[in-house]
Amino acid sequence: MEIINEIKFTMPSLSVNEGTARAVVSSFLIQADPTVEELSDIRTAVSEAVTNAVVHAYRGTKGNIDLTVRLLPHREIYIKIKDKGCGIQDIEKAMEPLFTTAPEEERSGLGFSVMQSFMDRLTVRSTPGRGTTVTMRKRLTSHED
Ligand code: ATP
Ligand code: MG
Repeated sequence: MEIINEIKFTMPSLSVNEGTARAVVSSFLIQADPTVEELSDIRTAVSEAVTNAVVHAYRGTKGNIDLTVRLLPHREIYIKIKDKGCGIQDIEKAMEPLFTTAPEEERSGLGFSVMQSFMDRLTVRSTPGRGTTVTMRKRLTSHED
């Protein structure tokens, strides 16, 4: 993978860091001059992934969330969100729209669906007891000024 630019950012699993992650990603993406909509989509996808790490991965415990953001050739954005939390038993099932293990907490089971629809590619790798890694890619539109 040819990487033009990259940041790595580690934060504890506090819900306030959902906003921190959005802000960090936005700051990094300024160099790629995304449209308002592209930026909004990416911020929302990042937020969903970080929220999942806070509320599911580290439920009742605390741990670190690692965020990697890369600018790749052809205006492609690569984002990785990694936790060392509880992991996911059945990834396919977890990614189904409306599937949630926390319905009593007003979770609607749409986080992965949002990530999928707002980004071009979504990959989830997970090992129960070891943690989860979500990677997402989105190609920004080119603007020929
Ligand atoms: P919503 O995102 O709509 O508030 P949700 O978080 O339950 O609800 P998804 O984000 O789609 O929905 O996640 C589906 C399920 O996958 C979760 O209920 C949870 O069981 C599991 N899950 C998602 N991310 C993680 C993670 N990082 N670690 C452990 N389990 C996860
Ligand atoms: Mg979620």
